[in-house]
Amino acid sequence: MLPETLGGLAAAAGLLGLCVGSFLNVVIHRLPRMMEQEWQAQCSELRGEAASSAAEPLSLAKPRSRCPACGHQISALENIPLISYLLILKGKCSACGTPISSRYPIIEALTGLVSAYAAWHFGPTVQTMGALFLVWALIALSAIDLDTQLLPDSITLPLLWLGLLFNLWGVYADLSTAVVGAMAGYLALWSVFWLFKLATGKEGMGYGDFKLLAALGAWLGWQMLPAIILLSSVVGAVVGVSLIVVARHGRNIPIPFGPYLAAAGAIALFWGNDITQAYLGTIG
Ligand SMILES: [Zn+2]
Repeated sequence: MLPETLGGLAAAAGLLGLCVGSFLNVVIHRLPRMMEQEWQAQCSELRGEAASSAAEPLSLAKPRSRCPACGHQISALENIPLISYLLILKGKCSACGTPISSRYPIIEALTGLVSAYAAWHFGPTVQTMGALFLVWALIALSAIDLDTQLLPDSITLPLLWLGLLFNLWGVYADLSTAVVGAMAGYLALWSVFWLFKLATGKEGMGYGDFKLLAALGAWLGWQMLPAIILLSSVVGAVVGVSLIVVARHGRNIPIPFGPYLAAAGAIALFWGNDITQAYLGTIG
């Protein structure tokens, strides 16, 4: 394929990624709140209370985004990914001047860059399409885990089914490899969790982590699991120790594991085969 055509495809995927990144910001912000509303509704139902119908239930589409400080409704012009933040709003709410978190443009830029790279890496194939869905989900999961220490089932489980669906046609791994990957991914962290809990009485990670690794196993096959676990543990240990040393992050404050798993999953998606081949080359 001509480099210009591939460049065009990557640029188109990058622009699409910017817009999706803007939507991911909404998901990251609202999904945990929607889950909380649902839990509260279930709790009051169990207690036999009448459901409080005062607040309109939150959804991803409604209500329109507002400034959390003054309630100013974000206009279409203020909602252009990256451009609005950098050029139009210059990092501040247009109504009250309250600074807007740089997290929003960072998520947009990251989603745009990774989407462009996915298209560049896989070219005009069905692999690009799947890779986009996978990295978008991984970005949303990482940010939600950083904020809330949760990896919502409403993302991890569909991600697992979607991986198996793509691999019905062997897009990333053959089907039996993917099914075994999903089971082994779950069981691997589940066993670590119970060993750790029996040994120390503490819970080192959550069930969301098992489901995320199961999803990565479903996408990439069981052969990638050792590399993913190793990569995420190494990066997690380095970041964790530096947080404790540099930022005096308390030893007992949990550090979410999801972002490391997600990063390792993305690395395995793009370069996993190279890594395993280099590894097998050094021992064989
Ligand atoms: Zn405002």
